[in-house]
Amino acid sequence: MSSPARDLATSAVAALQPSSGVLIGGRWREAAAGARQAIEDPSHGEIIGDLAAGGGADIDEAVAAARSAFNGAWGATTATDRGRLLSRMGQEVLARAETLALLETLDVGKPLRQSRADAFALARYLEFYGGAADKLTGQTLPYQNGYTVMTLREPHGVTGHIVPWNYPMQIIGRSVGAALAAGNATVLKPAEEASLTALAIGRIALDCGLPPGVLNIVPGTGETAGAALSAHSGVDHVSFTGSPEVGALVQAAAARRAAPVTLELGGKSPQLVFDDADLEDALPVLVNAGLQNAGQTCSAGSRLLVQRGIYDEVVGRLSARYAALAAGTAFADVDLGPLISAKQQRSVQAFLDRASGRGMTPVARGSVVMGTPTGGHYVAPALFADVRPDDELAREEIFGPVQVVIPFDDEDEAVAIANGSDYGLVAGAWTRDGGRQLRLAHRLKAGQVFINNYGAGGGVELPFGGVRRSGHGREKGFEALYGFTTLKTVAIRHG
Ligand code: NAD
Repeated sequence: MSSPARDLATSAVAALQPSSGVLIGGRWREAAAGARQAIEDPSHGEIIGDLAAGGGADIDEAVAAARSAFNGAWGATTATDRGRLLSRMGQEVLARAETLALLETLDVGKPLRQSRADAFALARYLEFYGGAADKLTGQTLPYQNGYTVMTLREPHGVTGHIVPWNYPMQIIGRSVGAALAAGNATVLKPAEEASLTALAIGRIALDCGLPPGVLNIVPGTGETAGAALSAHSGVDHVSFTGSPEVGALVQAAAARRAAPVTLELGGKSPQLVFDDADLEDALPVLVNAGLQNAGQTCSAGSRLLVQRGIYDEVVGRLSARYAALAAGTAFADVDLGPLISAKQQRSVQAFLDRASGRGMTPVARGSVVMGTPTGGHYVAPALFADVRPDDELAREEIFGPVQVVIPFDDEDEAVAIANGSDYGLVAGAWTRDGGRQLRLAHRLKAGQVFINNYGAGGGVELPFGGVRRSGHGREKGFEALYGFTTLKTVAIRHG
């Protein structure tokens, strides 16, 4: 099924063709083993092209190119010059935002408005880290008389970046952007399901004058290119965003050479709704926080904890919203697009089937738009009510358009349920009680807590990361620059 926007996106893929290889040392070439991987349009389930699939030999070369850049001119650039380069890239992303959005929508199946928002967020990351590059300072420390002691923030050297398919542009922006601002040379391994915008970003970097070897890009599978990057002795820091299972492999591989890692893993984030909440404000956010990107969001607010006094009303109003939601092709730009792949669709469907086997039925369900291509990977959004906190639907990250509602009596019970999760990425709470707002800010165990909002609109400036199974380390905001640097203490005894 064609549409003018999809035709434009397909032309954008064709225009990207010269950059469909691996990018190493400033040059595009085929993967060393000549392997290619398919590009699938998840809205239609159709293969629309292919691109290089790099492996261990490509990673070796990419790491060597990054090392040579770091030891050479890039290592000597001033923070001001790095900042200027990143800001220029941000401007160029803005200029090409529509093309980037079309590529992402075709590749990932995101509704076009979400891909546009992601392209603007990528520009914001590059601008933010461009501006921050020359604000990163050390300290002088009071010590014994006759000494001057200072700390220096230095780049790690070569950083590896393994990103998932759900928000490619945003995650590349926050991770690679911060690493470059801090002075590292980088090797990026995009997800095999979604590499197109990574390649487009590589082209933008070269067009903006980023020196050869500073950003190397090796698309390929996780088991080959990803594993080779995380195990490479020449990689000084690894930033990984993805599943907890793969995060553990990456951390174990890096541990063999004692390299630091940042792990941004999944979540099962709660949203607490108290009797005194402003429901007009809360209701649209409660749903959107769970269903954005068809629920394939690490910080999805997928557990709705609702106080008993308003429980029936909230379930009723949420159900009405769900019944009006529709999934359709990404270019139709309706409420939800498809899931990324047949595999992800099967995984979400298996959660629904097992729930059905336990006698659970959704209290409300959206629909799939009539005439939507049968090959696409659609799941109609599903809302479950009266879910037990220990049920699989309330514990496991489904990574699809499914939310659960759980009743609670009082604040203590709500906090116990919210914190009673293996994950701890984000938590949200809705209440007008000022004392409770402050208490919850302290009591909820998560990397980010939002009161009377959820996600603060993405907030490039706001540090982000998890506790427990959601990972460790922080990306986004100024804080990320600390993770992409190492601290050196210098003590000078001068008498
Ligand atoms: P995934 O872990 O399968 O893949 C993520 C990346 O790791 C991909 O680039 C993949 O190629 C690579 N990879 C796979 N196997 C590897 C290996 N053995 N060694 C090295 N790299 C390997 O995850 P996914 O399916 O792409 O994404 C879904 C998961 O990611 C969800 O659990 C979600 O919550 C999480 N996620 C977290 C965040 C966050 O910021 N916290 C963001 C997006 C996704």
